[in-house]
Amino acid sequence: MRFFAGIFALSLLLSGVNGIASAQSTTPGAATLTVIRAGSLVDGTSDAPRKNQLIFVRRDRIEKIADASTQIPAGANVIDLSSSTVLPGLIDSHTHIFLWGEDPAKGGYDANILKAGIALRAARATFACRRALEQGFTTLRDVETEGAGYGDVEIKQAIAEGTIPGPRLFCATRAISSTGGYNLEDFAPELDMPKGAQIIDGPVQARKAAREQLDHGADWIKVYMTHRSWTDKQGRLVSQPTLTVEELKAIVDEAHGWQKKVACHAYNGIGLQRALDGGCDSIEHGLEITDAQIAQMASQGTWYCPTLSPYYGDWADADTPAGKRDRARAATHEISFKKALQAHLKIVFGTDIGGMPWTDSMAQEFPRMVGFGMAPMDAIHSATSRAAEMLDMKGEIGVLAQGASADVIAVAGDPLKDITALGHVRFVMHDGAIFKNEQPK
Ligand SMILES: [Zn+2]
Repeated sequence: MRFFAGIFALSLLLSGVNGIASAQSTTPGAATLTVIRAGSLVDGTSDAPRKNQLIFVRRDRIEKIADASTQIPAGANVIDLSSSTVLPGLIDSHTHIFLWGEDPAKGGYDANILKAGIALRAARATFACRRALEQGFTTLRDVETEGAGYGDVEIKQAIAEGTIPGPRLFCATRAISSTGGYNLEDFAPELDMPKGAQIIDGPVQARKAAREQLDHGADWIKVYMTHRSWTDKQGRLVSQPTLTVEELKAIVDEAHGWQKKVACHAYNGIGLQRALDGGCDSIEHGLEITDAQIAQMASQGTWYCPTLSPYYGDWADADTPAGKRDRARAATHEISFKKALQAHLKIVFGTDIGGMPWTDSMAQEFPRMVGFGMAPMDAIHSATSRAAEMLDMKGEIGVLAQGASADVIAVAGDPLKDITALGHVRFVMHDGAIFKNEQPK
């Protein structure tokens, strides 16, 4: 592991050995002032970067941001990122720390549940959290554990107590779908197979599932509004709807009562319409959104988390039903994304990583978004201040400003000129603790 340089390697090693020092704990001397010299500062909200800035960090907060001419007090720990672009810690609004890829050669989705016990799954989730952090993602909205119960809430607890390194987690726990609406499936009907989501039928069960999940620590509720998808005789994408409007309304009503929000997986058609009519807060994927649905999202203030990346790789052969479906999904997704951009919908960055292996780059979503016409700064905002607003954390995360959490990252080069620079994060500070500090080559 060549990620950690100098004293930071030592401090990380020590924290690994004694399990006490951590991103969240306040160790003696933590009140020391740290000053970061930023060559170029992208603050997460402004339209343009600022040159030669100083970020003053004390404990887990940004004390102030000042021009480079400002006096640095004696005794401050100075970190020189004057040759880098400095940004707020990134936010991925759609991850699955408990998924370990869906490669058919490795048993596909089902192997996650059928072949891995809960301890192995927890170890993999621990790896996922570390991977996210070292790529500069200091916050994740993790949208369900895929059969690993409330494991996400416990991983969050392990991070908070300093047992393992990891980003700030917003957990959705088990997710909710209907009978026939989630894997595992295609087994003999006599078998009572485990399901990757909590299955409900009817508004009463729907509300009960939401209550259970909120009771056990869900920060968000995740709902599946569509499940299987295929192409019809005309080659158009069709998605099987799952929950009814009444079922979704019961969930949304319950979640909103707890001041929590509801993320709805919805590809298109009836299921997407029910998601909007039922009052969901964010549409996940949204592969095919009609003009009327775009207008409804705009008027309802619905967030859109497109997760482009998973739909542009690993297509089945073109002349197979699955291959036709894969191509229809991608073609219509591009159109929907461009419509959403034009309508100024509130788009947040999400990768759906976990569905893709955690060894993949999370930043791959940035060039997808920019390739479909999103301005690079807008793409950065989708992974910083805009996501923070969705998470009700405006001003606290996704921004470099006085009083915000000290989540600071740096990349070599200028991501506004070349968005792929965000795939090469060399410095990561999370809650004021340095997790990674690679020297420039
Ligand atoms: Zn997902």
